[in-house]
Amino acid sequence: MKKILITGGMGFIGSHLCDRLINNGHDVLCVDNLFTGDKQNIYHLLGNPRFEIIRHDITFPLYVEVDEIYNLACPASPIHYQLDPVQTIKTSVHGAINMLGLAKRLKAPIMQASTSEVYGDPKIHPQIEEYWGHVNPIGIRSCYDEGKRAAETLFFDYHRQHGLVIKIARIFNTYGPNMHINDGRVVSNFIVQAIKNLPITIYGDGNQSRSFCYVDDLVSAIDCFMQTPEEVTGPINLGNPHEITILNLAKLIISISKSSSKIIYKAAVEDDPRNRCPDISLAVKKLKWKPTVTLENGLERTIAYFTNLLDKN
Ligand code: NAD
Ligand code: UDP
Repeated sequence: MKKILITGGMGFIGSHLCDRLINNGHDVLCVDNLFTGDKQNIYHLLGNPRFEIIRHDITFPLYVEVDEIYNLACPASPIHYQLDPVQTIKTSVHGAINMLGLAKRLKAPIMQASTSEVYGDPKIHPQIEEYWGHVNPIGIRSCYDEGKRAAETLFFDYHRQHGLVIKIARIFNTYGPNMHINDGRVVSNFIVQAIKNLPITIYGDGNQSRSFCYVDDLVSAIDCFMQTPEEVTGPINLGNPHEITILNLAKLIISISKSSSKIIYKAAVEDDPRNRCPDISLAVKKLKWKPTVTLENGLERTIAYFTNLLDKN
């Protein structure tokens, strides 16, 4: 049994990771400033003696004693990370420095929740870890993309300079229960619109593509990655290589939810990556992992979650 720190533990992915690590028998310390996180996501864990919470902003130093760190704190939805871009880049950079400093003092392995956004609007497809990316350094997504790139640099510098055990997970679009209802990301937007029979809003022509990974698969990958030998530092792409256009995603969600929603087109968003799909060969080889939940099945579970949530409100 280990004492494990999860930053961003009240967020979408973080809350699932709290569940997973508690179920694995560990003590979990969840640190979150509740910027995009929700107490409801971890409410069921509150009475558990192996679960603790600290409300804290990781751009400030943190002094705790743990055996392992998962650094997930950072808003992930474009509308949220663009609300306060300076805070977003501070969370990635100052937050990484603080968490790496903590890991260094404790000699604790540390995982970084990096992102496919480090590839920007990629010129090679599918994306492999060796690709350095195609990122606008001064655009409206840059606070997130460049922040995450700088965080990867910091992780490697602490690894080379101080011998830290690091794991860099490049997470591709993930979806599932506990996504924020007003999160603004495509899966939650389309599902909520479909359930309410409201127009489904496609930004641009809908031919842009993404590859969506169900959160249980992603959390399994994160869990496997942390257990790999020290020399497995990553970066490793984690995601589901099943690629779909945004238009086809809209049609699929309408069909599964038996919605009468119509599709409407809105202006494309600035710097919106055209195509995104992970090459997961490295994850398959190093983690002995691959995603198992189909898009249809994952969407059914997510639609059931949002239907239940909307019924309660
Ligand atoms: P989320 O917004 O649901 O969760 C982020 C959590 O971090 C929230 O609980 C928020 O309150 C907390 N947080 C933000 N800034 C903080 C700060 N300064 N100090 C402490 N806590 C802070 O997002 P998510 O989808 O769960 O993403 C989790 C991590 O995974 C993020 O680092 C994100 O960049 C990464 N990621 C997610 C996806 C995805 O598709 N969901 C894809 C790539 C990478
Ligand atoms: N998108 C859309 N309608 C929405 C929300 C998003 O068409 O209501 C598009 C968005 O422009 C992008 C894709 O869906 O092309 C994925 O967007 P999201 O914000 O979920 O994640 P991203 O992969 O862009 O970070």
